[in-house]
Amino acid sequence: MTVLAVLKDAYGLTGVDVSPLGGELDQNSVVLLDDGSRVVVKVSPPGADVARIRWQHELMRLADAGGVRVPRVRAALDGESLVVTGGRAVTVQSWLDGPTLSELDSHAPELLEELGATAARLVRALAAAPKPPDSAPSHWDVLRAAEAMTDDGVDDHVWRIVAGYSQTLERHGASLPHAVVHQDLNDFNVLARRGPDGRHHVHAILDFGDALHTARVGELAVAVAYAMLRTPDPLSAAAAVVRGYTADLEDAELSVLFPMAAARLCVNAVTWTQRGTAYGHERTRHTRPAIAALAATPPELADAVLREAAGRTVAVAEVAAAGAPLELPAGASFGRHLEPGAPVRRATASGESATLRLGLAITSPEEFDVHTPFDAVVVRNEPTAVLLRHDRPEVVWSRWTGVNSAHRDGDSIAAGDPIGRAEAICVALFRSPETALLAPDLVPPSQAAAWARVSPDPAEFVGLPRERRAADWDVERVVTSRSVHFARSQRSYYRRPMNLVGGQGNWLHDDCGRAYLDAINNVSHVGHANPRVVAAATAQLRKLNTNSRFVYPGIAEYAERLTATLPDPLQVAFFVCSGSEANDLAVRMARQVTGRRGVLVVDGAYHGNTSVLTGLSPNRYKGPGGIGPDPATHEVEQPDRYRGRHGYGDPAAGSAYAADVRRQVDRLTAAGTPPAAFLAESAMGTAGSVFYPDGYLAEAFAAVRAAGGLCICDEVQVGFGRFGDAFWGFESQGVVPDIVTMGKPIGNGHPLAAVVTTREIADEFDTGMKYFNTFGGNPVSCAIGLAVLDEIVEEGLQQHAAETGHHFKDVLEALAGRHELIGDVRGHGMYLGVELVRDRGTKEPAGAEALHVSELMKDEGVLVYPTGATGNVLKIKPPLTFTAEDADLFGTTLDEVLGCDW
Ligand code: PMP
Repeated sequence: MTVLAVLKDAYGLTGVDVSPLGGELDQNSVVLLDDGSRVVVKVSPPGADVARIRWQHELMRLADAGGVRVPRVRAALDGESLVVTGGRAVTVQSWLDGPTLSELDSHAPELLEELGATAARLVRALAAAPKPPDSAPSHWDVLRAAEAMTDDGVDDHVWRIVAGYSQTLERHGASLPHAVVHQDLNDFNVLARRGPDGRHHVHAILDFGDALHTARVGELAVAVAYAMLRTPDPLSAAAAVVRGYTADLEDAELSVLFPMAAARLCVNAVTWTQRGTAYGHERTRHTRPAIAALAATPPELADAVLREAAGRTVAVAEVAAAGAPLELPAGASFGRHLEPGAPVRRATASGESATLRLGLAITSPEEFDVHTPFDAVVVRNEPTAVLLRHDRPEVVWSRWTGVNSAHRDGDSIAAGDPIGRAEAICVALFRSPETALLAPDLVPPSQAAAWARVSPDPAEFVGLPRERRAADWDVERVVTSRSVHFARSQRSYYRRPMNLVGGQGNWLHDDCGRAYLDAINNVSHVGHANPRVVAAATAQLRKLNTNSRFVYPGIAEYAERLTATLPDPLQVAFFVCSGSEANDLAVRMARQVTGRRGVLVVDGAYHGNTSVLTGLSPNRYKGPGGIGPDPATHEVEQPDRYRGRHGYGDPAAGSAYAADVRRQVDRLTAAGTPPAAFLAESAMGTAGSVFYPDGYLAEAFAAVRAAGGLCICDEVQVGFGRFGDAFWGFESQGVVPDIVTMGKPIGNGHPLAAVVTTREIADEFDTGMKYFNTFGGNPVSCAIGLAVLDEIVEEGLQQHAAETGHHFKDVLEALAGRHELIGDVRGHGMYLGVELVRDRGTKEPAGAEALHVSELMKDEGVLVYPTGATGNVLKIKPPLTFTAEDADLFGTTLDEVLGCDW
């Protein structure tokens, strides 16, 4: 009988279309019914074990009741859960939608934790399940993996893994608790679904065909096994699943977990290789690379990683001292065990970078004899490293990288005798030869704790004191301390922040030795730790620093140099310490000079953190916690050509938006309160990288000036050559403001800022009241300001910004062609914005996605962050020293992040 006929006769259902689904033994198909719904029809091979199938249906009912979403079995017309025809059992189940985990190319740690949680829920749900009716033993049983190993498809990796598995079972098998388990949470049996947060979540599980009464840990082991596919870092994926698993896990279960998971992948590879089908090939495409990676993973390390993920504490390995200490030449320097070597840049999408050195590094200015501290036997002398065994009270293996040794394998070396000669060595200790042979030179920070458990600190072993770190300000401690001593309103970037300890050029690096490409810091305008700036600051600090009421050359020279970059008649400078102070002073000046209070601001703008500026910053007073504008604040429409009333295609958009400024000015003038000033950024930063249409500022300024108001340009974000074709942002709008404020990039991170205005305004501001700013323009600040200007000019950074910015924008625009999430790419020179939307038609802002993209970019080693009223614009404003290669790296990383399944 056909599937459609069975459906009709036994279920009273009319199918209109049948499409086959994959399956090992059953013939499964999905049938479209005449009411538009779908069902899955499973047809067993002839000679159906009806009792077993009914038992599986009971398990599905229990799982469902236990909160695990599974297909619902549909009753036939006679009320039975299956129909037998021609010796085959037919079951009809509900169709569950969603990609299987195998269809997602990567699995976020959060998704894998949910998989672990699902496994735990399943174990609890099935705890009361009846035992299965008798059935033939299956090699899919997690306790019988070795039985699947026939010659065909078994390679060295598989042998090694299965041998380890068999040994572990011999040791711990008898203590494993047994239970009824689904034991097939493989990546084809777990469905995902995207949630409102834009990320994939575990939705449902399928296929109880391999359910058994066997080792309870099998449920978790199988989930762990398939989570280790499709990732360059299987151990981290396994750890995520274990972290999510909340059911009981006994010590013996933890001991067998990794070998059992690895063995399951071997069964998968061998079984499907033997079948040789196309479906089988698809099922193993990712298994072989994972098996190779697992065979190269020290089992001892995997055990430590998974125990840690399960919340168990494992003692840190220690080796007692008292050997013959190494004799080191004067001037030798040391790098400690599990500390970063040189910062490592992340190759994109390669998983976490290995940055921490395994072992103690010793570098000497000259070659020296390297002695063994304890009696030793040479296990292996290879060109890269010598491996020694020491039969001390406890046996340890030491690995000496970089030692040039003439010894042969099997030689004995007495304590204090030379192993060989070297200039730079790294010595690492291990408690098993297997780990010593498999251990890499560098390990990823997430595995540091596990490595500390299997690889003892060699300091005391070689006769050096084990340095205890005085104040270990790791990221947890910093974040905890911030939570105590900072207000919650002082937010930091990133959910999982990095602990920054250094910066060079366009890169920052953290305490784990991970490097991050900085695409967010317009403050570090001429690059992190810029040598000219550092030299100027340190030299001036040594020479003189004092308050700015004294007379000293630097402040005059700097004022001359800075004002020379501005058009006439902007020639009078006030030096202050922050962009906020600059804007506050500019507003104060405008109010005093005009004798008026009203200030026009552009909707969405941010101008600073003082009381006055908070009331003048729509981004704050209309944002979360905002209490509305100051009564003297008057907003004008944001000239946003992506979302606003006048778009990119409108050549008159500048005039159209400026008309709103004129309207507001006219309204205020008619009310007898004409404005003191129009305060506008030259391009909008915090509002979400908004660039004005041509002619906007010119017409707006004309309207304001006609009513006697002053025009203030806030250049805090965009000044100092960032636009490439102009040194100042306002120049690209063809205007000259009455007052300019500057900050962020002016001191390359040093707290320096400035207000520059005309002689006339400056004179009118002098009513007899003193203006004094203790730190603003002090000798060190001025030396730094001068160095920044020199650097911009001498390194041609403005021209560089034009060229690189152009290339960068091309890179981003190409991405917009590939990723629907990108709604708009805009920018000028090296000030760029990528606006993310859920739907290009409705332009629904994708704020959660922008934050998530930024987090993933950070994990991949590239820094960018969302901005804008709804936080859906990626702000891109790197140091001007950013190169075309940096822009390409940003592009490939964003491409990968947007392309991966999250
Ligand atoms: N103006 C603009 C346009 C800004 O973006 C900022 C800072 N984000 C400020 C002023 C305030 O500068 P600061 O934080 O140095 O006080």
